[in-house]
Amino acid sequence: MISIVGVLFLVVFVLVFFGAFFTIFTGFWRMRGMANKVFTLAEQEMDRKLKEGPANGTEATPDPAICSHCGGRVTAQVAQCPNCGAGLP
Ligand SMILES: [Zn+2]
Repeated sequence: MISIVGVLFLVVFVLVFFGAFFTIFTGFWRMRGMANKVFTLAEQEMDRKLKEGPANGTEATPDPAICSHCGGRVTAQVAQCPNCGAGLP
């Protein structure tokens, strides 16, 4: 009689234990997947911004490092374009 109750109690205890463990584990796993998704999204956004950020900057504002005469790349410090010899502002 006592052993049957004990076995029942043990079975219920094991079932509850595994249920709780499973719930916690699946919840953790789902949260991990969500965090991974957020991280990949942030990484993609950062990559996108890194790729088009400098390009947008050079296009939006007239860059002194580009010759207005021939369009060649020059350093901002020089007074004359090394490509065409035109004076730079
Ligand atoms: Zn030039």
